[in-house]
Amino acid sequence: MNYCSHCGAKVAFRIPAGDNLPRFVCETCEMVHYQNPRIVAGCIPEWQNQILLCRRAIEPKYGLWTFPAGFMENGETIEQAAIRETLEEAEADVELTSLYAVFSIPHISQVYMIFRGRIRNPDFKAGHESLEVQLFRPEEIPWETLAFRVIHETLERYVQDRQSGFGRGGQQDGAPSRDGGFGRGGQQDGAPSRDGGFGRGGQQDGAPSRANGGFPVHTGKILPAT
Ligand SMILES: [Zn+2]
Repeated sequence: MNYCSHCGAKVAFRIPAGDNLPRFVCETCEMVHYQNPRIVAGCIPEWQNQILLCRRAIEPKYGLWTFPAGFMENGETIEQAAIRETLEEAEADVELTSLYAVFSIPHISQVYMIFRGRIRNPDFKAGHESLEVQLFRPEEIPWETLAFRVIHETLERYVQDRQSGFGRGGQQDGAPSRDGGFGRGGQQDGAPSRDGGFGRGGQQDGAPSRANGGFPVHTGKILPAT
């Protein structure tokens, strides 16, 4: 940042009084321009035993595969963002079933929040940011041509979870998680899920969350490629 977006004067990069990190500070109007991580909402769209991936029609990683994901917009919820990205990139209408993974990527200051979503009807096609979209069984996932490490990491865990039996058994494909989860009503905006979810303490990476339809909620960080 070179110029103040508020008054147009040059900004300095220094530690403001009372702070402990350098910020862009306008010496003219005194506005402090904070910069914080950006949130990416993603969705693993599920149809029967398959997931829907998109081949990117945009840079970066043109031509490589991803699940729908993109930056949240101001004024929307993370769930709305995940649904919107899935519509934009794959023209697929999903009902989110659970939060699946939260990954921090500190070296690029991004946080991915990835949901599982049930495709309501298989009437999808490539959106304008995709060259093509295709359903994949777990054993068909194009590991060598995935776009980003966070996508690889997420899908690796997803396939492992499927192999471990999550998502099978009593849980119907697309059935609401049995003890809550968002969307059931009664859950207030911003209120913690009353029967679990991560952050409650005691939940380790990979531990099943009762509020997640039997699937674990994965948390972790993605390090820079070496
Ligand atoms: Zn200014």
